[in-house]
Amino acid sequence: MKEKPNIIFITLDGLRPKNLSCYGYSRNTSPNIDSLAKQGVLFENFFSSHNVTMKSILSILGGRHVLGQDLGSHYTKEEIKTFFETGGILFPEVLKKNGYKTYCLKKLYGYQKTGFDYYFKQDAQEKSKKWNLIRFLKKIPLLYTLPKFFLHNFYFIPKKIENKMRFNNSGEIATKKAIEIIRQNKKNNFFMWVEYSDTHVPYVSSYKFSEKFKSNKKSPNFFDILKNKKGYNKTDISFLKGCWKSKDTVEDIIAKYDNALSYDDFLVGKIIDTLQEENLLKNTIIFLFADHGESLGEHGLYFTHEGLYDVTFNIPLIISGNLIPRNKRVKTLTQLEDIVPTVLDLAGINHDPSSFDGETLSPLLVGKEKKMRESIFIEESSCGLKRRGIRTEKYKYVESSEKEFSVCTMCGTCHGDIIDLFNLKKDKEETISLAKKDKELLIKMKIELERKIKDMKTMNEKRKIKSFISKIGK
Ligand SMILES: [Zn+2]
Ligand SMILES: [Zn+2]
Repeated sequence: MKEKPNIIFITLDGLRPKNLSCYGYSRNTSPNIDSLAKQGVLFENFFSSHNVTMKSILSILGGRHVLGQDLGSHYTKEEIKTFFETGGILFPEVLKKNGYKTYCLKKLYGYQKTGFDYYFKQDAQEKSKKWNLIRFLKKIPLLYTLPKFFLHNFYFIPKKIENKMRFNNSGEIATKKAIEIIRQNKKNNFFMWVEYSDTHVPYVSSYKFSEKFKSNKKSPNFFDILKNKKGYNKTDISFLKGCWKSKDTVEDIIAKYDNALSYDDFLVGKIIDTLQEENLLKNTIIFLFADHGESLGEHGLYFTHEGLYDVTFNIPLIISGNLIPRNKRVKTLTQLEDIVPTVLDLAGINHDPSSFDGETLSPLLVGKEKKMRESIFIEESSCGLKRRGIRTEKYKYVESSEKEFSVCTMCGTCHGDIIDLFNLKKDKEETISLAKKDKELLIKMKIELERKIKDMKTMNEKRKIKSFISKIGK
């Protein structure tokens, strides 16, 4: 008899809650995710603390935010070393020690593989003939760039063929494998992480979904906007030219994002159906969330997850399944680092809460709303920019040090001012900075940011000593 629940993570890369129907979007993009929300608890104010995938992965697996020392979209070896030296643990390893079989249906690198019985290797798409063809073509640049040039400029190519050329079937492969794993593990406890990446540029869905939503609003041509952006990296422009057609408007591309989301939602539905068929739904807890959001043109940031704005940091979280209340919405300020302590808590595994920056969400799942924290720390340290900030329920404060205030190597802008201050209750879109108007608030928020950083550093020192002592004790 199984005592512990199965745990499934379903993540969608770059998924912003704004575009999910259960979060109030006008398009019906997500019927299956909506039904998960109806059966579970939806978090309205859940945030990532990084805006890049590779750093968010450590928050997801380790329950901590590692302060960025260097610029880059990956942690350096030194930063990872610090995580482990301060007693950092990756929860799949803990689950494995507690009898779980552990699967990751996404590509993992280096330390991320710790504790997984099975994960997708770098050549996860090995079964896809198309992928092999692209790999072959990439070796002959002309053969690779020529079809892209055709896709960008020639409109007579039938849509079905165009779609086939752009489509990446990794979501389909992950879903098939997920179904296989569910069926194999009816009698075992398992943890499985399934990732979908279609809501990441270039937003391509399977053909059946590629026309589900079409733009009906007039909007500027995307490549005209790029032409007028001085300092936009040329390599990035040519990459984007390979993604979409030269006549695509901003709204056309947003429709592609929504179609990609709908397609991934359809695949999520297949996983839920399988759990239902195998009668495993009641003994499984599903966490559906994202690694960061996406800016679809807000603040002049098009189809990227740069900047410290809410569109990039606010992410969905739905927890549903075994003993989880149904149809509940939580407004409390919560963050990606809360997932690990929550999983261990729900699986009934003893752990030291001080190992994590996050806190368990269990009291919010079963009880009433309660404040967990004053603010969350957010950070951007990639593309040549270093910005840090805090977000409370009402305000957001963001700063760059004068030395580090520079332009982004990709889009050529600064992603805001040297200091930004927003009142999120009155100005949800974060367009009116109060930095020059409300000095008192500015000082208060700066003190809170400094306190937060100091607390994180002190906590790590304590963890380092604790880890040292426990090593001597052995
Ligand atoms: Zn990502
Ligand atoms: Zn940028």
